[in-house]
Amino acid sequence: MFDREKFKESVIRNLKIEFGKTLEKSNKHEKYYGVSKAIMEQIIDHWNRTEETYKKGKQAYYLSAEFLMGRALGNNLLNLGIQDEIEKSLKDLGIDVNMIEEIEEDAGLGNGGLGRLAACFLDSCATMNLPVVGYGLRYRYGIFKQKFVDGYQVEEGDHWLKYGDPWSIRRAEDIVMVEFADEEVKAVPYDTPIIGYKTKNVNTLRLWQAEALEDFDFNLFNEQRYDEAVREKNRAEDISRVLYPNDSKREGQILRLKQQYFFVSASLQDMVKKYKERIEEGFEVFSQYHAVQLNDTHPVVAIPELMRLLIDQEGLTWEKAWEIAKKTFAYTNHTIMAEALEKWDIDLYEEFLPRVYEIIVKIHKQFIEELKRKNYTKEIMNKVQIISDHSIHMAWLAIYGSHTINGVAELHTEILKNQELKDWYDLYPHKFQNKTNGITFRRWLALSNKELTQLITELLETEEWITDSNRMKELEKYAENEVVLKKFLQIKLLKKKELAAYIYKKEGIEINTDSIFDIQIKRLHEYKRQLLNALYIVDLYYRLKENPAIDIVPRTFVFGAKAAPGYVRAKAIIKYINEIARMINHDEEVKGKIQVVFVTNYNVSYGEKLFSAADVSQQISTAGKEASGTGNMKFMLNGTPTLGTYDGANVEIVQEAGKENNFIFGARVEELEVIKDSYHPKEYYEKVPGLKRAVDTLMNGTFDDGGTGMFEELYNALLEGSDWHQADNYFLLRDFEEYREAQQRVDRAYRDRLGWARKCWINLANAGKFSSDRTIEEYAKEIWNIEPPKYNS
Ligand SMILES: *Cc1c(COP(=O)(O)O)cnc(C)c1O
Repeated sequence: MFDREKFKESVIRNLKIEFGKTLEKSNKHEKYYGVSKAIMEQIIDHWNRTEETYKKGKQAYYLSAEFLMGRALGNNLLNLGIQDEIEKSLKDLGIDVNMIEEIEEDAGLGNGGLGRLAACFLDSCATMNLPVVGYGLRYRYGIFKQKFVDGYQVEEGDHWLKYGDPWSIRRAEDIVMVEFADEEVKAVPYDTPIIGYKTKNVNTLRLWQAEALEDFDFNLFNEQRYDEAVREKNRAEDISRVLYPNDSKREGQILRLKQQYFFVSASLQDMVKKYKERIEEGFEVFSQYHAVQLNDTHPVVAIPELMRLLIDQEGLTWEKAWEIAKKTFAYTNHTIMAEALEKWDIDLYEEFLPRVYEIIVKIHKQFIEELKRKNYTKEIMNKVQIISDHSIHMAWLAIYGSHTINGVAELHTEILKNQELKDWYDLYPHKFQNKTNGITFRRWLALSNKELTQLITELLETEEWITDSNRMKELEKYAENEVVLKKFLQIKLLKKKELAAYIYKKEGIEINTDSIFDIQIKRLHEYKRQLLNALYIVDLYYRLKENPAIDIVPRTFVFGAKAAPGYVRAKAIIKYINEIARMINHDEEVKGKIQVVFVTNYNVSYGEKLFSAADVSQQISTAGKEASGTGNMKFMLNGTPTLGTYDGANVEIVQEAGKENNFIFGARVEELEVIKDSYHPKEYYEKVPGLKRAVDTLMNGTFDDGGTGMFEELYNALLEGSDWHQADNYFLLRDFEEYREAQQRVDRAYRDRLGWARKCWINLANAGKFSSDRTIEEYAKEIWNIEPPKYNS
């Protein structure tokens, strides 16, 4: 039972120990820290006990260069089931729980969907009592903070550890050394507890921090050569200094290579070391105790690295080591974009990881031999070679060295099997599986939409749906119930008002809560087609100017997106949308009809406010390009219809909730396959009414790009193409008219308030499939072969 008095004492004690201050003298950051530490105190015993239990059996290890965790405090309170108790305790201490939750920095150790998936998976594993450890990098600086200056994106370093990290514990006893040809560094593990929902088990996220063997060179320091004295230290710390350093230059690439090898080697050394302590059977049975999941190609160097450890350090033969590796690893493919498939110049590997390189060459040769034995043609062999064109193809290495390859949505896996990885599928059909992504319902509903959560619990008369998401299907019987639907609409309005207040505070813009909140939030990428949305808005604006009598439901278009710092075109699109926003929001003639807001620094905690308040979920990627998407699921879970293409998990969303409850448009994969070689975007530009007028704003001076020429570059990309791609590579002009038509369907449907609520409700009731608990159950059963441990008690 929760002991309120003890908890309060713990907060005060922690403030005293950490900061030497009384409660009254502590500032809000210190209070946040003290409260978090007091919660850590509550869970430490459970955490240690969990580790002891897991030790005895098979464990899975999720290797990921990214974990986009967001904030911890609120989620931990939810999962521990002590939100109310803590709120009361803190009130006694004069601390506002919302205030300290809001000052927590997001742990933004990831870029977007892939990193957030890893975070959702950890929550599900812990909740389901599955023995799974997350391994990654403890970047000192996470994903950059985004600001807008005159409409341009400006990046700032994200020093998320500025006020300390109360949720991690440095484990000096588990330090390991990681060796590169030119330096050796310490890998220091920091463990963060992953507190499952209403379970006593506490799982672990272990993130490695790079440190120098020596803090400084004593002799150099003594000679007063201070910069030189700490050079080695800085060089070592560079390895975990920042998420995804710019890799357009050779220096950056070396750093990225070192990051990958650093966390992978440290994690495998950790596994091997612990294995020797916990299991006596020898390495023959290593794979009976370890399942290692490679989250995309970033950690694929794990395959040769495990070989190296088993052969060079543990004395196994090549053949035995290869057997073990193949039974240990599984690989998740996250993208069908050819340019994102990771390749490494062999010179870099040779120079910095010579032994690992040697092993990769041997794996490559062994693979070629195997193909020859199977009588494969030269033609196929050339397509699947692990080393070719002076590069190492990480995805190929992953597929050859893993027992299972999975795509992340049904459509995606089919495209892998039939197109992108067809040669591989023909070789190893048994290796291929689908695991449709999911999201944790704890953070994305129970935490971020308490009101809707409460309504569901009332109707189902149980909270079990939070961990047994299939039960949500029972909500469908209320789809015609006016009282319930009206309650849903009330809750939506409340969330919209909360979001509006937050946007006013953060962005200084007042938005109309009676308007449709039409939201597109995701990384900025051409294939995600924020520009299509923008062109639609420009067209709508001109139509309203032309004919003020056009009857539309007022609409607020909300964007949130970070562009990679070196992605010039993505940044141009941000600037373009900001210019559109400036024009529309200052035009009295369209006031009360349309508004455009680009929220700054979209991240997990902003997302929690946006998903729950949305009326429309924009998922408009070019068909075949978005592997799954998970933002689409967060919207659906909050009762928001999808306006989208047949792409990624949208297909399954529609399968679950019905086409009639969503707004699907645009060319399908098969159709694009047919038209792609004879596509002439100019034909659409000329013939689709209004399209030319909208597109021309990119080149006719309507909007000011500060003389950079960036808007005209977008125009040319759409109509002329460039030396590296054909015109309108992502088929915006092809889909424009159907998109506009789908938007009109949204407008009409929204007017029927109960009809609309019904669509929302059916989406919510059918969101169960998209719980990451379901995804993780599939991984556990079909890939990892693990179960919750049996307890003795
Ligand atoms: C869910 C999420 C994403 C992924 O969004 P998609 O629409 O699936 O690309 C990216 N960033 C954040 C902060 C998220 O929470």
